[in-house]
Amino acid sequence: MPGASRVADGRLISTNPATGEEVGAFPVASAEDVAAAVRTAREAGAWWESLGFPERKRRLLRFRALLTRRIPELAALMTAEGGKPRIDSTLETFVTIEHIAWAARHARKVLGPRRVGGSLLQPEFAGRLEYRPYGVVGVIGPWNYPLFTPMGSIAYALAAGNAVVFKPSEYTPAVGQWYVDLFREVVPEQPVLQIVHGLGDVGAALCRSGVDKVAFTGSTATGKKVMAACAENLVPVLVECGGKDALIVDADADVKAAADAALWGAMTNAGQSCVGIERVYVHEKVYEPFLKALVGDAEKLTYGTDPGEDVGPITMPGQREIIRRHIDDALARGGTAVLGGPDSVRGPVVRPTILVDVPEDSAAVCEETFGPTMTVAKVASMDEAVAKANAVPYGLGGAVFSKHNGLKIARRLRAGMVAVNSTFSFAVLPELPFGGVGQSGFGRIHGADGLREFGRASSIARRRLPSVVPLLTFRRTEKSVALGHKIVRIMHGR
Ligand code: NDP
Repeated sequence: MPGASRVADGRLISTNPATGEEVGAFPVASAEDVAAAVRTAREAGAWWESLGFPERKRRLLRFRALLTRRIPELAALMTAEGGKPRIDSTLETFVTIEHIAWAARHARKVLGPRRVGGSLLQPEFAGRLEYRPYGVVGVIGPWNYPLFTPMGSIAYALAAGNAVVFKPSEYTPAVGQWYVDLFREVVPEQPVLQIVHGLGDVGAALCRSGVDKVAFTGSTATGKKVMAACAENLVPVLVECGGKDALIVDADADVKAAADAALWGAMTNAGQSCVGIERVYVHEKVYEPFLKALVGDAEKLTYGTDPGEDVGPITMPGQREIIRRHIDDALARGGTAVLGGPDSVRGPVVRPTILVDVPEDSAAVCEETFGPTMTVAKVASMDEAVAKANAVPYGLGGAVFSKHNGLKIARRLRAGMVAVNSTFSFAVLPELPFGGVGQSGFGRIHGADGLREFGRASSIARRRLPSVVPLLTFRRTEKSVALGHKIVRIMHGR
C-alpha cells in the first residue's frame, strides 16, 4: 500500500506515500541496541557538556549553516518520503533553521550560571543557579513535520548540553537519518546525536533504556503509553500531543484575510499539522462573506500527488479512513459539504473539504481529523465562539481574527498558543514557547522555556560571611532567634 512503511529482513523500509516507491531502508534496532546507544550517549554527553556553551554554540551554528546550504536536497527528501508539497518542505526547513540558531545563541544566557538574590534574614549566604544538562535525552518524533518537530526538542536539548538518542517515526526514517548524519559532520568526535529506527516498540524501548528524560511528540494515545513507560523509572517526560485548533472570526475582522489564513491553516501539509485549523467559528454578521471568500479561495487549490500541488497526499494510509469517517459522520448528522463531500477520500489524496452545519458533538468537531478538512460554524457572539472553541479536551493552538479584540479573545482560549490575525505564527517566533494543555500534553519546546525543559535546576547556596544572626545551627541562642523574629516582623508583618 503506498505510504505504508514495513519491516523486512530486520530493516525498516520507508516508501513514498504517493507512489509506493522505496525511499530508504534502515536496520531496526533491538531493545539491546537502544540500550547500547544510550550507554555510549552517556559518555558522549559528558564530553559534549564539557565543551561548554561557546563551543556548543559554534558547532550548532555550523550545523544550521550546513543545513541552510543543503535546503533543496533536504526538502526534496522530505517530499519524497512524506509526500508533502515541495514548498511546504522548504518552509519547514526555514523555520527549523531559525530555531536551531536561537537555541544555540541563547542557551548560555538562559541556562548558564548566575548569582541570585540573597535574603535579608540571612545575608551571609549567596545563591548561585544554573541549569545542568540531564545527560541523555530520548526524543521520539512524529512524521508530519519530520524536521521541525523533532528538532524543537533535539536542538534545544543539544544546546543545553545533553546527548540525544532519537527515534523518528517509522514513516520518516530517511529524513531523520539525513540530519543525524549531517550533525556528525560538525561533531565527529563523539556520538552526541544518535538515531534508532523501528516501530513503536523501539520508542517504548527508548523510554525504558535508562535515558534521563524523554521528549515525545505524537498522538495523545501514544503520549499516554510513553508516560506510563517512563513512570516505571520516574523518567521525566515532555509530552507534545495532538490538537483540534479553532480559528475565531469576530464581526470586525478583515474577512478576506481571515478566509485566506483559515484556508492555509487548515489545508497546508494536507491538514496534517498538530496546530492545523480544524474548526472555524464566525460571527453571524460576517459569516456569509467569510464563507464565500473561503470557498472561493479553496476552489482554486490544486491537489494531487505531484510535489507542485497545493495539497499533497496523506502520509499515513490508516489516516484516510479516519478522515473518511469524520466526513461521513458529519454529513449523516445533518452537515453539508460546501466543498468536497462523501467522495473526497480517494486513493492517497484527499480533496480539500469544507463542512458547515455540523453538530458540535460530531467526530469532525470533537476529534483530531488530521486531513485537509474543516468545519465552519456561525456564532451569535464571541462568548459563544470562545465557549465552543474551548469545549474540546485538546488545547494546543488557536487563532483569532479581529481588528480590535484579538488579544482579549486570544487570552480567553484554553490553548498553549494563539495567533492573532494570522495562523501558525507562534511557531515561527523562536522566543515563544510551544506546547499545549489538557489532552494536547504538557511541557514546552522553543524559547527560554524550551531550553529549560532540557536542563535541571542546580541550586547552590554559598556562605560568604559569618552569621550575625546564627539560625542554622544548634549554637543559635534565644537572642539570635528573637532578632530573627524582629527582622521577619519588619519585612513581612505589615
Ligand atoms: P504517533 O503517536 O503514532 O507516533 C509518534 C511517535 O511515537 C512515532 O515515532 C512512533 O513510532 C512512536 N511510538 C509509537 N508507539 C510507541 C510506544 N508505545 N512507545 C513509544 N513510542 C511509540 O503519532 P504520529 O507519528 O502519527 O504523529 C501524528 C500525531 O502527532 C498527531 O496527533 C499530531 O497532532 C501530533 N503532533 C503533535 C505536535 C505537537 O507539537 N504537539 C507536533 C506534530 C505532531 P512509529 O511511527 O514507529 O509508530
